[in-house]
This record gives sequence, C-alpha cells and structure tokens, in this order.
Amino acid sequence: MYTNVRNFIESLDVPSGTSMRTDCPVCSRSNTFSVTNDYGQLLYFCFHADCSAKGGVSLGMSVNDMKGMYASNTIPPKFNWDVLVSAKSIIHIDAHKFTIGYESSDSMYANLWKDSYELLYKYIKQTAALQNYDFHFSLIDNRIIFKNFLGESQSVYGKSIARAIPKWMNYNTEYSGGWSASAELSSTIVVVEDIISAIQINNFFTLGDVSSYALMGTNLSNAHMLQICKDKPQKVYVCLDRDATHKAATMAWDLIPLLPSSSRVITVPLITDIKDMSYEKVKLLFKGHIS
Ligand SMILES: [Zn+2]
Repeated sequence: MYTNVRNFIESLDVPSGTSMRTDCPVCSRSNTFSVTNDYGQLLYFCFHADCSAKGGVSLGMSVNDMKGMYASNTIPPKFNWDVLVSAKSIIHIDAHKFTIGYESSDSMYANLWKDSYELLYKYIKQTAALQNYDFHFSLIDNRIIFKNFLGESQSVYGKSIARAIPKWMNYNTEYSGGWSASAELSSTIVVVEDIISAIQINNFFTLGDVSSYALMGTNLSNAHMLQICKDKPQKVYVCLDRDATHKAATMAWDLIPLLPSSSRVITVPLITDIKDMSYEKVKLLFKGHIS
C-alpha cells in the first residue's frame, strides 16, 4: 500500500484533460481507483463503497506550460483561482497607482507580464470605472479578476482584455450568483449586466446607500433571486442594456412576488451603455429616485 497518495497519482502521468482507472493505492482493490487530470488539477477517488480515498491535488504547472496549453486549446481550460495562484499567474493591480513595471527575477514570468502590461494599461485607461479600483490580473489568460464575497459565497470572475470568448470567465464553477462590491446588499439595489457596469454605479453613488449587483449576463437564476431578495430591499432598479429591455421587464415580474409589498422594482431602460455614461447622465437616469 502506498502511504503517499499524492506521489502515487503524480507518478501515473495522466495527460491533461483525460482520466484513467487503476488499482486503489489505499484499499488495494483492483481497478477501483479513478484519476482525472482537470487541466492541472488531479482529482481522484475510489469507486469502492468501503474506501474513503478521495481528493484533489494541484500539479503546480509552470505559467508557461499553462499559457501554451491555453493557446492550443479551442475550448478554454477551466482554470480556477487556486490553480492560477499555484502557477504564479496572479498579480495584484491597484489601478489608481498603475505605474508599476514588470519586475521579477523569473525571466519567463517577466516576459509574460510584459506581453500583458500594455494591453492591460490600455484597457484601464479606456475604462473610467476601473481607475479607482484594485483587482487581480491573470497572466495566463489575460483576464482581470474580480473576486468577492456576497454573503457566504465567493465569486471569482475574470474579464478578458483580449477579446477572448467567453468575455467573462467564472473561475468558481460552483458559484452561479452575481457580483457585488460589498458582502451585504443595501436597501437600494441597482441590477446591471456585468462587473464593469456595477463598478461604474459604485463610483457614482455612496457604497452602503446603494449597492450595485452584476448578473454576469442577462439571465436571472434562482441564486440571483435569493441574493437580491434576501434582505428585503426597498428599491430594486433593473438596468440592462437596450437589447435586453424585454428581459428586464420579465425580471421585474419575477422579483416582485419575492419582495415585501412596500418594495418597488423599477426597470430603467438604458439608451447608452452604463459603462460609457458620464456622472450627469447617470444622475439624470435616476432623477427623483436616488439622490
Ligand atoms: Zn480504494
């Protein structure tokens, strides 16, 4: 029997994106042990009911291995936060002080950062909403990562700055809720499509008075409904882009029965993308609603 399951599964050399069956190193039964290499995460378990062998380990691939893998795959690998961290892909960015260069003793790492730096710099300069914000950035897949807790649940979403598909990557696939800058939503909630729009709303209104909430799309899931209605907000504004006006109306009808009768759900059709709006235009949009 192997005392170190990790060494055992690493020695199997399961190719990325594939699975294999073998004898269990814990209970020694024949062909009951399954190992899957989920793009650098080795997930293993034993099929036998009396055996408790189960778990996952990160292979800790190099940034370059993963970048190559990412480039060669038509379907983007399902990176998650822990894999990205262990591959040293994650750097912290304070957009407000975006003057940092790329300093690293690891030349490979420095080159990756150099590639990404100009792209990221350009993106932040064009995105007014982000200029007072801090976030993480993943060098492997060129995504700005927004990580936050809403209640107990952690969201980790990555926005591509290189026009990759999907535009937003959910790095925590167990999570299907929305994103908000704060862990608790206030009594006035502005529902928008994505995090950049939500941050824009945060820039306009005092956090605490108004919470913005990003759906990460235009669909309202059960998880969204639970999060939005949890603390019985007084006002919910549904602000979707113009091409989703019909969806916004349907959403309002879905939310109303879950809220107290004193609450109001208001759809605010957007003519201009909220990301491109000036302070004056946003004030005008919510005139008479939010001061
Ligand atoms: Zn077993």
